[in-house]
Formats: sequence, C-alpha cells, structure tokens
Amino acid sequence: MRPIPIVSMTLVMAIAAILLPDSAMAEMSKKKQAQYPAKDELPDVNHPLVKKWVAEIDWSKVPKIPIAKAVIPNCPDCPKGKKGVDKNACWWTCDGCVAHDDIEVCPREKAWGLTYDDGPSEETPRLLKKLLQANVTSTFFVVGSRIMEYPETLIQEVKEGHHIGLHTWSHAGMTSLTNEQIVAEIKWAEKIVFDVTGLKTKYWRPPYGDVDNRVRAIVRQMGYKTVIWTKEWDSNDWQIPDKTITNKEVFRNFKWALSTVPKMKGGIITLEHDLFTQTVNVAGPLLDMGMKKGLEPMDIAQCVNDPEPYQNSALLSQKEAAKKPAVAKPDVKPAAVPAKPVTPQAQTPLVAPKAASLPKPDGKVTEDEDIAIKKVQTSGATQIAWSAACLAIVAASALLSL
Ligand SMILES: [Zn+2]
Repeated sequence: MRPIPIVSMTLVMAIAAILLPDSAMAEMSKKKQAQYPAKDELPDVNHPLVKKWVAEIDWSKVPKIPIAKAVIPNCPDCPKGKKGVDKNACWWTCDGCVAHDDIEVCPREKAWGLTYDDGPSEETPRLLKKLLQANVTSTFFVVGSRIMEYPETLIQEVKEGHHIGLHTWSHAGMTSLTNEQIVAEIKWAEKIVFDVTGLKTKYWRPPYGDVDNRVRAIVRQMGYKTVIWTKEWDSNDWQIPDKTITNKEVFRNFKWALSTVPKMKGGIITLEHDLFTQTVNVAGPLLDMGMKKGLEPMDIAQCVNDPEPYQNSALLSQKEAAKKPAVAKPDVKPAAVPAKPVTPQAQTPLVAPKAASLPKPDGKVTEDEDIAIKKVQTSGATQIAWSAACLAIVAASALLSL
C-alpha cells in the first residue's frame, strides 16, 4: 500500500476544517444557486464580478488571435487542412501544437497522471469508492456549474485526498469564446470550488483540449497551468454512451497503449470521464489494467511534483505554521526524488482562508515570444475525432438534459 502523500494529507486536513455549512447539503439551495450563472450555460459577461475579473488582466499580453468559428455552439471546428490553422495560434487540438508550459506527460517513468473530467455527477461516488479501495488519488477536472448539484461530492473528492482542477463553468470550447467569456468561464468555476472547499485551483484542462495561445495568455494571468493529456492515452470512454465504441474496444485500445510503456522515456497522463454510467463502468478495469502493468497512478500535482497543488496552498501552510512553534513548521519543499510521496509533517487541521485575505493571482505572464512551440504531427483523423467528440458530448448532454 502506498502511503498517502503529503499533498493529499494536507488537503484532507484542510478540508476537514473549512467545510462551509451550506456545502453539507446534497444540493445547493436555489437561493445559493441563484448567485451563480446557470448550469451548463455561458456566464453573462456584464455581471459586475466578471467586469472586475476582466479588469485584472493585462490585455496587452494577450495575442490577437481570431476567435474560432463554432459549427455547434461553443464547440469549434478545426479549419480544413493543416494550412488553415494559424501557426502563431499553437492550437493544440487542431494542429497538435504544445506550448512550453502545457502539461501533457508526467516526467517520471511509470508515473500515471490519472484524470477524470466533466463531473461531479451522480456517477462520481461510485468511482471514488473504487479509487479508495485501490488507495489511489487522481485529479478531477470539474465543470463548475455542475458543482451546484453535487457540492457534497466535490467535498468527498477533497476529503479522500484527490486533487481538484477546473474544466470551466459550462464546458465550452474556449477558442470559440471572446476574451471576456474565457475569463468568466474560468473565474466562475474557480469561485464555486473556493466557495465550497476553500481551495483556489491552479490547474485546468480545456474542454475538448481546445486551447490556443490567446486562451493560454489569459489563463496564465489568472495563475493557471494547462493540462492536456498524452497522445494515444485518450481512453475514448466518452464515445461509449454515444455507442460509437464498445467497452471491449476501449479495453483493447488501452491494452495496446500499455504495450508501449516499456519503450517510453517518461510517464503518461490519461483522459477519462466521471459523467456517465458507462464511463465509470470502464474506469475500474482500466485502473486495474494499468496498475497490473506497473504504472503508478497519481494526481497531476504529484505527477509534476508540485508540493503546492492550489494557488492558496502556501497561504494555508503559512496559517498552519503560524499556529505552531517554529521548530514544527511544515516541510513543503519538493521531495528530493521527483514525485515520490513525502511523509506528512503537519498534523493539525488547517484554518480556512477568508476570501478577503486571499492572494490575487500572481500576474506572472510568460511573454508569447518566449513560447517554445513544439510541433507534434497530427493526422486529419485527430480533427475528425475532435469534431466527433463535440457532437457526441453535445448529443449525450442533450439526451440527459445536462
Ligand atoms: Zn470535458
């Protein structure tokens, strides 16, 4: 059994002390829900909070890349042929371009960045049970607006040592949005996670992997790290509800991907989902298959050896340290061996940060000129798969009135 790493332990202790009374309800009250934008809908950019958040961005740092066309609302289509993609855009899904700070692999060999997107949902607790049994932590990239229905599930994720990242407010393709809409999608999702847990998120995954240099320049200023997934390690579980792939095919594809592990130089990040019954049904067997082959599942903060998985991790640690004698300060330095679990030092529950005392995003911006663009060959099939992903998810969402 692996020891629970310090990151997870810290979160467990933090959340135990910071649960808000409202968050203990199965669903947020209608009154509380009314404080947020509607479920699965683009937030209003004229809201005073959005205007405030937009004013905090240095727009001179954001490149003027055209907004992508969307054939389906908020689900952009790749231009036909590679020539149609602006090279300066570094548009990951359409041309496979990766920016220098995109996270698409775990550096350490055998490390398996385990991620589940699109929840929380009524299916998530079943997955949590499996992960608890396996003594494994993962990153949940949550859709902000879905937390209104399942705040308890979000809390359970944190209590059980999992790491929370954002997957926007309404699951829109970000390159098809205006600058203001991008800010609103991230910040409303960030706000609801903070309101429920006291944690200020630091990692996000763009829905459909839809990110370009305009989107990156905005989210960086809000303190975010972009996480995509390793090529060939999309489980394609999202296609099962749409019946374009069977469970058997998902397992066969994963088995094939696992056969490449011995030749790989680093670790991997997989893409799975906790939104549908069918996707959670395959999650357990996929986890067992990977572990049997020697992969070590972990959340994204562990995968990249980040001892501060949230933007307010340091603040939480400082508050904790201030309550203790100097000799007992928690050790938050990175482990000497990358991504290896560290024995927890802090044993006292952390104090909930007050919203007013939270630090603002650090505002550090990487100049676009500094972006080292790494080209990855992508076939036309990738573009087709993406369009299919949009279609399938839109169809499935309509089916379930999501
Ligand atoms: Zn998604």
